Amino acid sequence: MAINNFKILSRVVFVCTMSLAGLWNSAFAVVADNIPSSAMYSQLEAFHGHVCAGSIFGARLGLAAKEALKTAGGTGKFSAQYYELSCPVDGIQVAAGTTYGNKALTVQERGEHRLVLAAEENKLAVEAKLTKRAEELGLKSRDLRKMAKALPANAPERSQLEREVEEIHSWLKGAPTDEVVIVTAVNMKVKAISSAR
Ligand SMILES: [Zn+2]
Repeated sequence: MAINNFKILSRVVFVCTMSLAGLWNSAFAVVADNIPSSAMYSQLEAFHGHVCAGSIFGARLGLAAKEALKTAGGTGKFSAQYYELSCPVDGIQVAAGTTYGNKALTVQERGEHRLVLAAEENKLAVEAKLTKRAEELGLKSRDLRKMAKALPANAPERSQLEREVEEIHSWLKGAPTDEVVIVTAVNMKVKAISSAR
């Protein structure tokens, strides 16, 4: 029993040491350059049916998580877990390639914009969340869009609001990854062992 506990502890320590050693930090430096291409956004718009902050969020989270997991050495099939059933799910499917149909995506309704992407073979995993700024801008764009829709189609205020929404969308689409997404390492193996204790 004591030996088992020691093994668990040493694994936990190993994971912490890895992050301290900067191994993950170097992975995130690469991720910072991973901005979805305009072709990917067009594909997303066609798939999702409209342009919205939520689907853009999904693409940013999905691509950042996928690239971080690849750089960290994740092997085997990647599978995604998302904790809110709404627009970001479609962005994740397009950008991370983990789809509901290929059984690489599960969604749990917890009201959290949080993506966990795991490599099935070696159990490495990363978690991607939105930065506070991205989350705030997402909410703002949603409110502005509602206000715009309530106005007559030809009202000048309406086009002004729509322009503001578009500006937010283009920031969310093209801002450096670390301004939109926070990616952290998760060790599924350690988590599984710890919860079984
Ligand atoms: Zn949407």
